Amino acid sequence: MGSFGYFQITRRCDQRCLICSNPENDNSISFEKGIAYLDSLMSDGGYEGVIITGGEPTLSEDLPEYLKHCARKGFPSVLITNGQNLASTAFAKKLKAAGLEKVILSLYSCDPKIQGKLAGNPDSLSNVNKAAANLEKLGGITLSVTITMNKLNADHLSRNVEHIAKRMPSVNHVVFNNLDPLMNRAAQHPETLHRLNDIDIELTRAVDMLRSNKMTYRIERVPLCYMGGYEHNSTETRRIVKNEKVKILFLDEKGEVDQAQGDFLYGKAECCKVCYLNDICIGLYSMDDRYMSEELFPVFHTTKEEVAEKVLSNAP
Ligand code: SF4
Repeated sequence: MGSFGYFQITRRCDQRCLICSNPENDNSISFEKGIAYLDSLMSDGGYEGVIITGGEPTLSEDLPEYLKHCARKGFPSVLITNGQNLASTAFAKKLKAAGLEKVILSLYSCDPKIQGKLAGNPDSLSNVNKAAANLEKLGGITLSVTITMNKLNADHLSRNVEHIAKRMPSVNHVVFNNLDPLMNRAAQHPETLHRLNDIDIELTRAVDMLRSNKMTYRIERVPLCYMGGYEHNSTETRRIVKNEKVKILFLDEKGEVDQAQGDFLYGKAECCKVCYLNDICIGLYSMDDRYMSEELFPVFHTTKEEVAEKVLSNAP
């Protein structure tokens, strides 16, 4: 995605996701501070745009003004949302009028019961579907989907892609993001934590399906030994190869951080020393705490040069 600033505008939320990585609190940024943060990203010159997130950013009454500010300055903005408020046609129209151009919808499962359980909201999937339909009807909005992989959806990642292809035909990009088990919600719900082996086959099936539907994709927080043949689509590897930077404004005790400061959360195992991809693989997140190093294995079927070339040439 290039170098982007992440901007949490509120930590309020209208769902209670079991695996939320930025759980609800009472914090919202003041409008003045928010505009100052956006301006700092713009004047830095090193950022291609801003990703507006939360909590649930559509709950902030300032969202339309932030979108307008970015549009006026020609600074690309992307909204990450759970889609619940965009199920309202009037609200979708309001954001489009304010300059909404790119939306990333968060989806967990094409199974309404699993989506409802993970989101703490039985209507969640139906609202996400309505949001996608509203945005498609409005036109001119680029639509992507992000799926957090966890124990409850690990066995049907490819069915999720099928659902997207069928119900959200204008989606052209999907991100599979491995569960962050260190965040307090997921830590409180250990039943959501999977093993890497649980996603192995299904992730490859899902990627095959994305490719056959001509959709682009990225995989996040997954070590390259679980991405055979599509290593170049690892977000972290692309960041290493392209030397991209990411800044995040958290509305909690973390405050403003450069993503590189979070790299210490990844570990490397003994087998990584002989792995051909060691230099361009970020390793295993939460190693030997929540995810286990015994599941790693060195890669010999490709080289770091081959993967880097695919990254730089934007290979499909
Ligand atoms: S063995 Fe280690 S370096 Fe190699 S792909 Fe797996 S996690 Fe990455």
